[in-house]
Amino acid sequence: MLSASPNPKFFDGEHALKSLAQEATPGAEPAPTHVAVYFGPEGEETPDPYFEGQGPARSGCTFCGACMTGCRHNAKNTLDKNYLYLAQQLGAEILAEQEVVAVEPAGSPDGSQGYEVTLRPSTTWLKPKTKLQAKGVIFAGGVLGTLNLLLQLKRGALPNLSPLVGQQVRTNNESLISVTQLEGDADMSQGVAISAILETDAHSHLELCRYGAGSGAWKLSFLPLAEGSNGWIRLWRMATDFFRDPVAYWKYFRVKDWAKSSLVMLFMQTLDSTVTFTLGRFGRMQSAVVGKDKPTAFIPEAISLARRMERILKGKAMMFGLTPIAGIPGTAHILGGAVMGKDPQTGVIDKDNRVFGYENMLVCDGSMISANPGVNPSLTITAISERAMSRIPDKANR
Ligand code: SF4
Repeated sequence: MLSASPNPKFFDGEHALKSLAQEATPGAEPAPTHVAVYFGPEGEETPDPYFEGQGPARSGCTFCGACMTGCRHNAKNTLDKNYLYLAQQLGAEILAEQEVVAVEPAGSPDGSQGYEVTLRPSTTWLKPKTKLQAKGVIFAGGVLGTLNLLLQLKRGALPNLSPLVGQQVRTNNESLISVTQLEGDADMSQGVAISAILETDAHSHLELCRYGAGSGAWKLSFLPLAEGSNGWIRLWRMATDFFRDPVAYWKYFRVKDWAKSSLVMLFMQTLDSTVTFTLGRFGRMQSAVVGKDKPTAFIPEAISLARRMERILKGKAMMFGLTPIAGIPGTAHILGGAVMGKDPQTGVIDKDNRVFGYENMLVCDGSMISANPGVNPSLTITAISERAMSRIPDKANR
C-alpha cells in the first residue's frame, strides 16, 4: 500500500556517510533505504502506477530533499494517495481538522451497543463541538494523540481501560545530531529525506536524513553538542567549545542555507528503554522516568560517529532540541503506551489490537508497538494495522 522501494540515487550526503562507514564500520556499507516514494521519470506526471488505475496520478521524485516538510511534487506516497484515497472511493467520509475529545459507550458500558464520539474543530474555537454515533472506534491518532485521549478517557468515560495506558512508552533509543559543513560546497539537501542506512553494530542503525533547500529555520532547533552528567557541566562544555574555536561558530551562524550545508544523523537502537506518560495536575500529558531502563540523551556510539563526521565534513556537530541543556532525549519515533499483552495486566490491547475491557474498540498506531524496532517504524505500524483490519469480518459475513 505504501509502495516502498529502494532509494535509487546517492548524492553528496550519502558519499559522506560512505566515508564515515569506511572509517567507523569497516566491512559495512550504507544501504539505500526503502522509502514510500514514486521513483518514476523525474517531475513527470504518470497515471496511477500502483493500484490498477484506482489510485491518483503520481509524479516522479525530483530528489529535492523536502519529504519531511511535505512533498510539493506529488511523489511521496502519503496516506492521502493510497489508504485514504481508496477508502474515499469506497464511500468513507473523511472529516479533516477535527479532534476527538470524548468517546463514550452508548447504552451498554462495554461499548457492545456502540459509542458516542465527540469532535471539536482543531483549527478554530468558534465552531461548536459535534457528536457522532459509531458502532466501533479505532484509535489511530499517533502516540501523542492516542495516549492523551486514552489517559483522559480512563479518568472518565472508559474506566475499564488497562492500568497500563501510558506505560512502556519507547523512544526507539534515538539520538538526532546534525553536522553542518563549514568549508566546501557539497549540497546536502539533494536526495530523498531519509536515503541511506548503516548498521553500526548488532543493535544499532545510523540513518542519513536531510531537509530541502530553504529549510534553514531548522538551524534554530539545534544546540551545540555537549555531553556530561548534569546541565551545568554541559553548559560549561558548550562555553569552552565556543572559546576554543569561535571561528567555527562564526562560520556556522553565517551559513546561508543550513539545509544545503547540513545532514542529520539519526541513530536508532533496538536496546530496550522506557518512559511513562501520565496526566499532570492540569490534565496535560507529561512524561516520567520509571525504573532503571530509561533512554539516555547521550548515546556514546552516536556521539562518536557524529565527531567522526565532523572531521570528514570539516563541520560542526549540533544536537537536536533542548537535549544538550535539559538532558532530555529527543526522538523522531515515539512508540508504545498502549502495548499488546495477553490480558489487561500485561497490555492495553490484545494480539489483534482489540482494547481490553471494551467491544469493537481498537488501537492501530505507534502506541501499539511493544519494543524498540531500531529502524523507522512506519512499515511495522501499517503491517500490524492491516493484520488487525483483516481480523474484522466483511460486512457481508457479519
Ligand atoms: S525528494 Fe521527497 S519531497 Fe522531493 S520530490 Fe522526492 S518525495 Fe517529494
